[in-house]
Amino acid sequence: MRYQSTRGNSPQQSFLEILLGGLAPDGGLYLPVEYPQVSPAQLDSWRSLTYADLAYEVLSLYCDDIPEEDLRALLRKTYTEQVYCNGRKADNAKDISPLHWLGEEGGTRLGLLSLSNGPTLAFKDMAMQLLGNLFEYALKRSGQKLNILGATSGDTGSAAEYAMRGKEGVNVFMLSPRGKMSAFQSAQMYSLQDPNIFNLAVAGVFDDCQDIVKAVSNDHVFKVKYRIGTVNSINWGRVVAQVVYYFQGYLLATQSSSEKVSFTVPSGNFGNICAGHIARMMGLPIAHLVAATNENDVLNEFFSTGVYRARKSAETLHTSSPSMDISKASNFERFVFDLVGKDGAQTAAMFKQVDTAGGFDISQELIFQEMGQYGFQSGRSTHQNRLDTIRNVDQQYNIMIDTHTADGVKVARDYLEPGIPMIVLETALPIKFEETIEIALGRPAECPEAFKDIKSKPQRVENIDADVNQVKTFLATHLD
Ligand SMILES: *Cc1c(COP(=O)(O)O)cnc(C)c1O
Repeated sequence: MRYQSTRGNSPQQSFLEILLGGLAPDGGLYLPVEYPQVSPAQLDSWRSLTYADLAYEVLSLYCDDIPEEDLRALLRKTYTEQVYCNGRKADNAKDISPLHWLGEEGGTRLGLLSLSNGPTLAFKDMAMQLLGNLFEYALKRSGQKLNILGATSGDTGSAAEYAMRGKEGVNVFMLSPRGKMSAFQSAQMYSLQDPNIFNLAVAGVFDDCQDIVKAVSNDHVFKVKYRIGTVNSINWGRVVAQVVYYFQGYLLATQSSSEKVSFTVPSGNFGNICAGHIARMMGLPIAHLVAATNENDVLNEFFSTGVYRARKSAETLHTSSPSMDISKASNFERFVFDLVGKDGAQTAAMFKQVDTAGGFDISQELIFQEMGQYGFQSGRSTHQNRLDTIRNVDQQYNIMIDTHTADGVKVARDYLEPGIPMIVLETALPIKFEETIEIALGRPAECPEAFKDIKSKPQRVENIDADVNQVKTFLATHLD
């Protein structure tokens, strides 16, 4: 499989060639030149597979430069009960991503796809754990080393650290805003003692951390000299790994490939739902893909009006579903590329306009009138909706959900169609956002046994100013 840039002006590359990089040289994002197709018969033949072997069927369509037996071994090593059953209740304990039906609503079944029982209790582990193993594999093959520099407001950083800890050839330097993450999130990251993981607590906010990463990445000489890489949400390996659980969710919800299913996805950077779009383009019978946003509703605005307007930092709200607090959706360009008929020049022009004018407006264009063929719907949830939904799901179904998943359930309920099961992707466990759960329910969030003492573990973190040069000096003195 060859990969092309969404801006149409970079050479095509293979899976392993794009795995360790970020943006394409022309500033675009990589996508396969075509989406491999899965027939209904093929889909039905995957019903009895384990998650790891289903992942093999899907991923082998995308990474033909990894020998079959290596890929299968990597996937079986990644998707194990040990790694993915941390917080799991007794039912379906062995499954990597079980489906829990909540019940009947609006003439159909409403369910949650569990994706948050990996090491950091958020769905990002589903892809990031695989990325860790793929990175180690690729670096070993090429005899290279990589130093990952990232910025996090919580979930991405911890998922990356737990994926890369102890991996050969990889160091992780993660910037986080000092004192701005939940106590649980900082404890998760800072309690890691692995010598290849470095936590840098920056005196500043998340945007300061991100600006530092950008400044270092833009220093080409430094970047090459110190082999700096990233694992942010535009990484193709992360997106494609996420495609797998849409197949899994579909297979668990249906008996035959003649049935349709809809998914609602709590969305921020459009990475998760982009994987759903790709699954649908491959032929998975998805009726609708519902993007659920919080108050930072860039995506809901686009799908309902045809206007894409990136927000300024000052306009970006800090909400109680913080992992969806985005000012622009960094993976959205992948969908736009498909929407404009894979026209790289047009995509480039549209995203230049995002940089210069803050957005674009396709409301009067034919592509917007015809967008229905892609199955997207969208909605928005607020702090009050979130609290209400956490409360009524708890009362109605005796299930505690996290704030992001609650945004999903809230919006899903507005789009239920009789006879078409609606699956909401569970993106984190409630304990990660325990402060809000306590407010909603008046009792503490459930905490999986393995995490009960996390806040009392010794922490390993370096304090640093919001200063690019200090970060560069730290990097230069801590690399091997
Ligand atoms: C990252 C994250 C999201 C948003 O996912 P995107 O791929 O950025 O759309 C939603 N919920 C949680 C809990 C997350 O960690």
